[in-house]
Amino acid sequence: MEKKNLETTYSPKEFEKRIYENWLNKGYFTPKVDKDKKPYTIVMPPPNITGKLHMGHALDLTLQDMLIRFKRMQGYEALWLPGEDHASIATEVRVENELLKQGLVKKEMGREAFLEKVYEWSEEYREKIRDQIKKMGSSCDFTREAFTMDENLSRAVREVFVKLYNDGLIYRGNRITNWCPKCETALSDAEIEYVEHNGNFWHFRYPLSDGSGYLVIATTRPETMLGDTAVAVHPEDERFRHLVGKTLDLPLMDRVIPIVADDYVDSEFGTGCVKITPAHDPNDFHVGERHKLEAIRVLDDKGIINEFGGKYQGLDRYEARKAIVSDMEKLGLIEKIEPHTHNVNTHDRCGTVIEPIISKQWYVEMKPQAGPAIEAVRSRKTNFVPERFEKTYFHWLENIQDWCISRQLWWGHRIPVWYCDDCQEVIVSNDTPHSCTKCGSTNLREEEDVLDTWFSSALWPFSTLGWPNETEDLKYFYPTSTLVTGYDIIPFWVMRMMFSGLYNMGEVPFDTVFIHGIVRDAQGRKMSKSLGNGVDPLETIDIYGADALRFMLITGNAPGSDIRFYPERVEAARNFANKLWNASRFVLMNIDEELIEKYKDSTNYSLADRWILSKVNNLIEEVTENFEKFELGIALAKVYEFIWNELCDWYIELIKPVFYNGTDEEKGVSYRVIREVLIKSLKLLHPTMPFITEEIYTFLNDEETIMMASWPEVEKENIDAKIEDTMGGVIEAIKSIRNLRQEMNVPNKRKSTLYILPNEGKEEAFVSSKDYLIKLAYAEDVVILKEDNTDENNVSLVTSTARIYIPLLDLIDRDKELERLGKEKTKLESEIERVNKKLGNEKFLANAKEDVIQEEKAKAAKYQAMLDAVDERIQALK
Ligand SMILES: [Zn+2]
Ligand SMILES: [Zn+2]
Repeated sequence: MEKKNLETTYSPKEFEKRIYENWLNKGYFTPKVDKDKKPYTIVMPPPNITGKLHMGHALDLTLQDMLIRFKRMQGYEALWLPGEDHASIATEVRVENELLKQGLVKKEMGREAFLEKVYEWSEEYREKIRDQIKKMGSSCDFTREAFTMDENLSRAVREVFVKLYNDGLIYRGNRITNWCPKCETALSDAEIEYVEHNGNFWHFRYPLSDGSGYLVIATTRPETMLGDTAVAVHPEDERFRHLVGKTLDLPLMDRVIPIVADDYVDSEFGTGCVKITPAHDPNDFHVGERHKLEAIRVLDDKGIINEFGGKYQGLDRYEARKAIVSDMEKLGLIEKIEPHTHNVNTHDRCGTVIEPIISKQWYVEMKPQAGPAIEAVRSRKTNFVPERFEKTYFHWLENIQDWCISRQLWWGHRIPVWYCDDCQEVIVSNDTPHSCTKCGSTNLREEEDVLDTWFSSALWPFSTLGWPNETEDLKYFYPTSTLVTGYDIIPFWVMRMMFSGLYNMGEVPFDTVFIHGIVRDAQGRKMSKSLGNGVDPLETIDIYGADALRFMLITGNAPGSDIRFYPERVEAARNFANKLWNASRFVLMNIDEELIEKYKDSTNYSLADRWILSKVNNLIEEVTENFEKFELGIALAKVYEFIWNELCDWYIELIKPVFYNGTDEEKGVSYRVIREVLIKSLKLLHPTMPFITEEIYTFLNDEETIMMASWPEVEKENIDAKIEDTMGGVIEAIKSIRNLRQEMNVPNKRKSTLYILPNEGKEEAFVSSKDYLIKLAYAEDVVILKEDNTDENNVSLVTSTARIYIPLLDLIDRDKELERLGKEKTKLESEIERVNKKLGNEKFLANAKEDVIQEEKAKAAKYQAMLDAVDERIQALK
């Protein structure tokens, strides 16, 4: 090797980019289909192309990269498949707004021109995202990168649509859908957010047609009365039974509507009479179907009253509400207005209040697919980590409604349906038909709508591997191994991938769903644009390096739990990297290849050697297990503790005397052990901090990379509890002695004699570690006692394995100490005098507040106690 040692200072910028490019060029991220090896697969949750990556992505990427690197080192063919999502509605809204700034209006541009612009946008943003993924150090295989709008993935979408249609699981129907009047599109239940809202219950009187009185109905949306086609009561409600079959005059609309009896009505609730608006309420829709009522839609796609709304036509839904209430008041038809707080459905992307509207949409029938998806988790074919998130999954699947999949947008997968204008035939096909399959006409109209963006993401685990083609990748890498994702998209994505995988592949898409939380700010708040508390991962990387950011994100990380972002923790991570860097430099500077080679078979280990070998093997065992259980935060904490404390603070210090004064053999053995232990530690740390471990590793080794090296194996024969116990006792003793010396302000160069009385059975430990005590506990000599013969002038220490005595005068210089104590005494006496004077002052006592006086008295007592202690020390020394 040309290079001999690391740069003098740790500066990640110098090497992170170089190392990443080397990995990429060498093809390390690209696994092969190798039947002799086991595959391990993660498909990356595809980031939306709507913007740059945030801290949540950074966490997501780090967790996946750690698992992939771990499994790769364990010898699996590890595939991490990256990609991006076209994010239909989110992207369309973004691009539409961008274009508007340039004076371009989507509808005026037309479908083709608009989509061209969106493609341009998608290319630009995909490149940005790719770049960010790389900066994080992600070892994903870009040769297999996928995009939901790719030709093959689009084919997969059409294939699934046609299959579902042919199986009778897709239908087009007039249903009540969640409609966003701002985005002008239908939405699925999963896109809705409930927001508490202060509104009213308006109690309206609807007069009976025969003039015999009126019924009172209550509503939170008065404007929908324009579309009322009945009032319903419960069939057994004594109050109204005699009115069923009679009619009412619908106020403001000049329409006669029937009174019907239906079980759906709850007599106990409200007035017991319910207005029925089949076109604007899901429950009313079903009542309408049962009673063959007309569904009159009175709102258009923008939420404005249409031609069926009489004189209110042209008014926005909320303007109409005001006008209607005011008109009803004038007519004396308001019984009362009750303030009422309720949850309203809003669109999660734009916050607009959703309007349930009847419209013709495409639906997937969900019940037949939900069953197998529930069963797969119940029977443990797929496991959630942590398990508690199963509940969310079951909850959504057990209450699932048919999935509205059509969206009135342009950006996305166009629904593969054509309508024959001559015979009204509906043609559902993978490929564009040239003529009607029924009448041969060429007057075909393509469906305008696109599919819900999640329709394509649902196919991600197999469409990205080449499905519907029977590719080698698909056969080898499916089912995938682990899905890493946030808990917030279980209903959107996880469950849809589950039922899609089962339906199309006949197998679950992944063995494990590893759920993580979100990244919050230091105060525990969600990072958001409006709060301006977001931290840009790239900026952090720029200052501290990707390794430090990754370290911070994994510190304290527990499956399923949110984490907080503390900037000072990134700094701590960099300090750790610094420490590792400097220790490695020290090792590289000292070890001597020739001596290592010469004594490569020697087993003359020192106590410290045997101790660190035992420790590192225990560490390997535990950390491997933590990785298998997805306890990545715990794994990292252990590796950190080991490197910082055992390796750098203890082992390197313990073997320094050997480095400087040992025999050739002692040196050869120590050099070999430190290099071996350092290499193993680097391997254990590599999944979290890939760059620094690579940089150091290549200096310690002739191998070209750590990432393809094998995960360390546990050497059981090196684990020795007795050695760990012995060394543990010695370390504890050294620590206590150092603490004592620090408390007493004893300089390191002032040596002391140590009298050690070991507990039963611990004698050998202290005898064999005399050298360590002399070096690290600043001992002049170590005397092992047989019995407790204490001198009063000794300071004593008790540890779990021994009593240690140090002659006081070894620690301090009597004259100097007396001088110091004398000064301390004078200082305290003058303080006491000052306070006493104050407390003797009548004026002060008369004017000062009670708590101020108490404070002064407390001071006097404190100084007195300190003075007593100083006097005692002076007496003892004299
Ligand atoms: Zn919206
Ligand atoms: Zn036809």
